[in-house]
Amino acid sequence: MQLAHGMRMTRSKLRDKKSKSLLKAGCSNSSMENPSMDIMATISLASKSIEIAKAIRDIDLKVGQADLKGKAADLISALADVKISLVEANDQLHAAEKEIERLKETLRRKDQLVESRGFLYRSRTDGSPQGNPACPVCLEKEARIFFTTPTHDSGRPLQCPNCRAKYFDATEYLYEGDN
Ligand SMILES: [Zn+2]
Repeated sequence: MQLAHGMRMTRSKLRDKKSKSLLKAGCSNSSMENPSMDIMATISLASKSIEIAKAIRDIDLKVGQADLKGKAADLISALADVKISLVEANDQLHAAEKEIERLKETLRRKDQLVESRGFLYRSRTDGSPQGNPACPVCLEKEARIFFTTPTHDSGRPLQCPNCRAKYFDATEYLYEGDN
């Protein structure tokens, strides 16, 4: 029983490490794990804890002292897993909230852009386009707005600073005040 308990605690510590690395990843990585997966796992772990607690309730105390200690150790281990799982689910919900805020901000900024010849530009005060277009690939795939920059490549394409896509058919407009 002691050995088995020790092994479970080791697994808990391993999961704890995973939890911390997830937390770090959540700060920089735009892709998210599904929070509902961890919540499902937590429910499953809580169910396991309830089963162990029921087994403890049903132990015949006169004959089952050792059994009681073992089951109590199992319960502590199972509840530790529940706690870790809740921390992970909380981290992921927090990351999901941040991502929703980011998407809302992107939508708000996108609404302020103006379309010209299939590309989106910053708007002048009169509503006409200015500067270089936003990269349509980054907008479509990542919901991120990156404005293209000029290159000296043959054909003078505009290039996305993020995904490096080149656009040979995009128009550059003068910025307001430059003409
Ligand atoms: Zn791009």
